[in-house]
Amino acid sequence: MASNLIPEIGEFGLIGKIAKIAGPTLEAVPKLIEGIGDDCAVYRLSEELLQVSTTDILVDQVHFDLLTTPVKHLGSKAMSVNVSDICAMNAIPRYALVSLAIPPSFPVEMIEELYRGMANAAAEYGVAIAGGDTSSSRSGLVISVAVTGEVTEERIAYRRGASPGDLVCVTGMLGGAAAGLRLLMREKDIMLEHLENRETYDRNLMADLEEYRNAIRSQLLPLARLDIVKFFHSAGIRPTSMIDISDGLSSELQHICRSSNTGALIYENSIPIGPETRLTAEEFQDDALTWALTGGEDYELLFTVPKDSLQDISAHRDISVIGEITPPEEGIFIRDIYGMKIDLAAISGFDHFRS
Ligand SMILES: [Mg+2]
Repeated sequence: MASNLIPEIGEFGLIGKIAKIAGPTLEAVPKLIEGIGDDCAVYRLSEELLQVSTTDILVDQVHFDLLTTPVKHLGSKAMSVNVSDICAMNAIPRYALVSLAIPPSFPVEMIEELYRGMANAAAEYGVAIAGGDTSSSRSGLVISVAVTGEVTEERIAYRRGASPGDLVCVTGMLGGAAAGLRLLMREKDIMLEHLENRETYDRNLMADLEEYRNAIRSQLLPLARLDIVKFFHSAGIRPTSMIDISDGLSSELQHICRSSNTGALIYENSIPIGPETRLTAEEFQDDALTWALTGGEDYELLFTVPKDSLQDISAHRDISVIGEITPPEEGIFIRDIYGMKIDLAAISGFDHFRS
């Protein structure tokens, strides 16, 4: 058998291969109505009620760096990234299972801090931490969280329901998490330089970065948009498709279009980017739009609604309409501020195996 290394096929290539082997097991469980390929698996509990489940893993040196990440924040983020996938189905999260692989050098207090962060976030979302597993790790810390939620059949939103003419919308601001990551990486370099020169490093990380507070916060403490899901439920809005922005707007929009068999046209000047993100990009001589499109980890929601929902959507000040869904043959494009149409396929998101 020819052997490939995983970076050669990438994260999505690997998922494709796994789906081929695991896919047939779905047939044994007719009540499982959605398997691999959306933000959550979906299981039918009754005629109206569906259960949604997701899991996400955070690995030391791949997803976080303990030099720049307080463990309490890490615990909170591990919970939020999972709840974000539940929100992407327009569902309400209910309970979580938490598994940890812990290096033997870790003090017990650090794990307690991690759990305090998780418990705080769980309380915020109304989620119970209902069990899990712990193991020792020969390398770094590994945190795996699984969350289960509920949604009715008439409210659930899949990735595949968009159709031409629908409005493309996002919540919050994009690119902030990428800006925060750059700032933290710069801070880490300064810290390591001090250590190398045997100087004491006595900066208070959060205090010195006060002016970048929002960007750092969106990197270290992202919040799942359960508030938006509750707004949808109370306003009677059902997105025709939805996904959460974990890898960047560009790749998430492509997921929606591929699943829905549509194209899309979005507008650069409609993409919400905070002033702090723009300033940070300028400081780093980088491009805030690229951060918004490919930076990832913003954990905002990307969704589509029929055109006649515009008024209902506009009632919420944290939702921006950024474009519209087009027929599949028109492709997936962004129109920049000069009026040029750029193919979004050329601008893709973060691949954990390639970066
Ligand atoms: Mg997702």
